[in-house]
Amino acid sequence: MARKKIKSKDKHILALSTLVNHPSAILYEKEDLIAYDCDGFTIHKATPKAVVFPENTEQVAKIVKYCHDHSLPFLARGAGTGLSGGAIPLNGEVIISMVKMKKLLSVDLENRRAVVEPGFVNLKLTNTISDKGYYYAPDPSSQYCCTIGGNVAENAGGAHCLKYGVTTNHILGLEVVLPNGDVIEIGKNGIADEPGYDLLGLITGSEGTLGIVTKITVRILKNPESKQTVLAYFDKVEDGSQAVSDIISAGIVPAALEMMDKTAIEGVEAAAFPVGHPKDIEALLLIEVDGIEAGIGEQIEQILQVCRNQNVREVRAAKDEQERAAWWANRKTGFGAMGAISPDYLVQDGVIPRSKLPEVLSKINKISEESGLRIANIFHAGDGNLHPLVLFDARIPGETEKAMEAGSACLKVCADVGGTITGEHGVGIEKREEMRFVFKDEEIQAQTDIRDVFNPDNLLNAGKLFPTPGRCAEVKKEMKAAAIS
Ligand SMILES: Cc1cc2nc3c(=O)[nH]c(=O)nc-3n(C[C@H](O)[C@H](O)[C@H](O)COP(=O)(O)OP(=O)(O)OC[C@H]3O[C@@H](n4cnc5c(N)ncnc54)[C@H](O)[C@@H]3O)c2cc1C
Repeated sequence: MARKKIKSKDKHILALSTLVNHPSAILYEKEDLIAYDCDGFTIHKATPKAVVFPENTEQVAKIVKYCHDHSLPFLARGAGTGLSGGAIPLNGEVIISMVKMKKLLSVDLENRRAVVEPGFVNLKLTNTISDKGYYYAPDPSSQYCCTIGGNVAENAGGAHCLKYGVTTNHILGLEVVLPNGDVIEIGKNGIADEPGYDLLGLITGSEGTLGIVTKITVRILKNPESKQTVLAYFDKVEDGSQAVSDIISAGIVPAALEMMDKTAIEGVEAAAFPVGHPKDIEALLLIEVDGIEAGIGEQIEQILQVCRNQNVREVRAAKDEQERAAWWANRKTGFGAMGAISPDYLVQDGVIPRSKLPEVLSKINKISEESGLRIANIFHAGDGNLHPLVLFDARIPGETEKAMEAGSACLKVCADVGGTITGEHGVGIEKREEMRFVFKDEEIQAQTDIRDVFNPDNLLNAGKLFPTPGRCAEVKKEMKAAAIS
């Protein structure tokens, strides 16, 4: 096929266009680049230099090597659903989009693993293997469109991660293009527990700052024999929170244990998947148990009783699979549903010890009152992963900044009760400064030192994950000076 002539005169665009093998595999014109100026964190925007669409590891490696050799900043992008700004081209990066690398390379049912390219969409894996009785456990609410490469970078979680663990617990091997263009394989043959440093653990959750993942071996699980879901409505948040603690203390390990507060319920009921939740309750719980058929009934009875002991207004198990699916669609589309009650919203992602739920929720209410902004709460209550959603209107001058301040204040509350600033959405650019809520300068320095080993020129996804360098650089200098003297 004749190559489409590249109109740009920029020598880097011309060179990069020769490293991908399809005429439409590079975007460089202003109007095309607008779609790549942010991800799911829409408050901050920046224009990339170009977007390239490689089709295999070799092309990724060549693009990375070119960027490295010519000191061009670059970053990887999956589906762009990240909520902390990890894929935003802060420094006018060359974006390396993984969307053309979307093949399911192999499925090995006997050894319960599958190999995918990074642009493979999360839910497609379960959809492809479910008829054979298997599924892929990490289930972020964005799973219908986010990529497994993006999940690895963010160490994504989901409703069912309470029982099954987050992405890192399901990754057996990775192929990674390092920031100089070298290609390495870790977890060879899908054997995760290799001798030496745990590089799989290091790369997973490194937010695209250590390398670009080009192949992923994941663990797949056998479908549970049976599952059942309970819905419980509470007039007091404290009662709902206590029920969460009591379920876990009773020795039950639900597959999922989710909570929504009154404002969140108003949102999901006004959006695309209403199920008729009463709007005057203060909290609802969605509790799912799974496992062998014989044990499910007993667990459901125990859960119903725990909720009754906590003054539940109404509690019942789903009458059939259709109702169960409707409850989950209502919950899983919860973030987007905020668009039905507010022009803009900011998703936060704090983690707290479960026992602190009532205290933290009351402090978040106080932040809402003081800021004058409504805050909805939708969260993975079972593992204490809160998602305060700050509702605001970006058209009102100053309101975006106010929302950012309120979001940050929510994270401070989480850190102060012994929790942390992100459970699954990552730090990105959004929570860089909040890293100081949980780490001392020396601890941040230890992490940036690791980044510098992989990414010494900091050309890959610079400006993410860590606070502005000033103070850390000073600490480093002080430490060096102390060592010399
Ligand atoms: C409505 C909604 C609901 C969500 N629900 C959840 C949830 O329940 N749980 C959860 O954990 N998250 C959730 N998210 C956040 C988001 O979907 C996840 O962080 C997801 O893992 C991002 O995947 P992506 O393909 O969109 O990655 P992107 O947004 O494109 O990229 C995210 C980061 O990963 C890096 N990256 C992407 N691909 C690669 C690669 N191949 N190699 C190296 N780095 C790479 C990017 O540079 C960036 O830093 C939600 C988002 C939305 C919009």
